Amino acid sequence: SMQETSPAVKAETRTADGTSIHLFANINLLSDLELANKFRVEGVGLYRSEFPFLIRDTFPMEEEQYQIYRRIVEAMDGREVTFRTLDIGGDKLVAHLGEVEEDNPFLGLRGIRFLLQNKDIFSEQICAMLRAGSGGNTRIMFPLISSVDEFVEARELVQNCMKVLDGRGEVYNHETKLGIMVELPSAVAQAEDFARVVDFMSIGTNDLIQYMLAVDRTNAMVSRLYLSYHPAILRAIELVAAAGRKHQTDVSICGDIARDPKMIPFLLGVGITKLSIAPRRMPDIQQAAEAVNMDEAVCTALQMLKFSRISEVEAFLEGRSIR
Ligand code: PEP
Ligand code: MG
Repeated sequence: SMQETSPAVKAETRTADGTSIHLFANINLLSDLELANKFRVEGVGLYRSEFPFLIRDTFPMEEEQYQIYRRIVEAMDGREVTFRTLDIGGDKLVAHLGEVEEDNPFLGLRGIRFLLQNKDIFSEQICAMLRAGSGGNTRIMFPLISSVDEFVEARELVQNCMKVLDGRGEVYNHETKLGIMVELPSAVAQAEDFARVVDFMSIGTNDLIQYMLAVDRTNAMVSRLYLSYHPAILRAIELVAAAGRKHQTDVSICGDIARDPKMIPFLLGVGITKLSIAPRRMPDIQQAAEAVNMDEAVCTALQMLKFSRISEVEAFLEGRSIR
């Protein structure tokens, strides 16, 4: 079982030279919380809120959503929790919401676009998340953001929900931070603009790779082209990290690149020290981070950012792992 085979994880993660690395959990189901706590995560970096919507045939109302979100906040007991609002559409379809079939669902009514067109559903979810955050350290993150305008519109809806909750006399987290998934090329290009207006940014490489390289993340015929270390992806990550640094905006990574030990020196080297991963990946990623020397990682990242060819990055990464 998991209990017998998984190595112990320390509460704090530090590189060989003592830099603090922050490991958070990606949570899909409430049952993932147990492993997250066992592996002493610093918080929940991504709660994929669509799961309760996907596995049943009725829509969970505000109260039911509140109960689910509240259990996450309670399990984390003061540690940071980032709720992502519904990311349906694309590969995640919800039949009972009466979505129409689209020719290109990944380019269609997905993520924040669906929510901004269904503001009653959006508002119920936001109210539930705000209430669940009461007394906690919570953040709300919007998926598939393609423009600053979408973020501003979503933020206005949150402010409106706060007024509604005030009117109802409900307790909620007035300090809830608001941020975005950086998972579209447009968000990368405007990383500085976003860094000025959001509380935090989390890079979603699963979709970013798909949209930057035009490679369907679910299509096995092109999976050979779906590469987290493509030079364009490396540069995009560095650009977002630099924008965050310049504007003192919290930047983390919640895409699967952060669960790949060979990419850890690069991520730390560009200055991203907050990683959100599936809880079961914690031991491996903690070990990979502990092996890193930050000065070397900065050199590694600078080197990797210079390559123009995929093959050069591959050779470099293989050379590193042989050494
Ligand atoms: C991502 O796109 O990298 C991400 C973390 O979100 P999801 O995999 O749920 O699309
Ligand atoms: Mg995504």
